[in-house]
Amino acid sequence: MEGIQVREAILLSETIFDKMVTSLSGLPGIGRKSATRIAFHLLRMDPNAFQLFIGNIKDTKENLKFCKLCAGITEHDICDICSSPKRDSNILCVVEQPEDIFFIEKTNVFSGKYHVLNGAISPLDGIGPEELRIAELEARIENQRVEEILLATNPTLEGDATASYISSVLQKFNVRITRIAHGLTVGGTIEYSDQYTLSKAIQSRLPFR
Ligand SMILES: [Zn+2]
Repeated sequence: MEGIQVREAILLSETIFDKMVTSLSGLPGIGRKSATRIAFHLLRMDPNAFQLFIGNIKDTKENLKFCKLCAGITEHDICDICSSPKRDSNILCVVEQPEDIFFIEKTNVFSGKYHVLNGAISPLDGIGPEELRIAELEARIENQRVEEILLATNPTLEGDATASYISSVLQKFNVRITRIAHGLTVGGTIEYSDQYTLSKAIQSRLPFR
């Protein structure tokens, strides 16, 4: 009788563990092996550190939202970048996802504002232009002075198609449309570049001084 109870207890704990591993492996970039390692790490974690960890996750989910103007993440209705008088409102950098803002901000070379599309045109995934925040972008251009739209969608087939589409839609406005340059990795070699990257590098060649 006792033996059966012990076996049931093991099965139950396996189920909880499995559920945890399944949840973790649903995170981007986490395979089942990494998920198992993280689950064991969480099990061994100091209770205070664990509470802090859980608290941070809860805070993120409960207190962060998407900016009403640019759709980047913020704790307020309008994000710090959109509300900053130090940022140049004349140039809007159009990105696919809110996380792209983080990476561009880290470069410290862009002082304009952003506009998140929430994706890229991808017919295979059923994502058409109407699923993206393009109407909101047009509204911003209509309602404020915008001189330049920097299309910083990814240099992929979907990102390029999205940039082309937006560029054609925005022809009716008096704005300069630019696209982030893409080509070979700095420090990389032609030999190890993939065909798409290499062809893009040649197509987007610049005058050399
Ligand atoms: Zn914003």
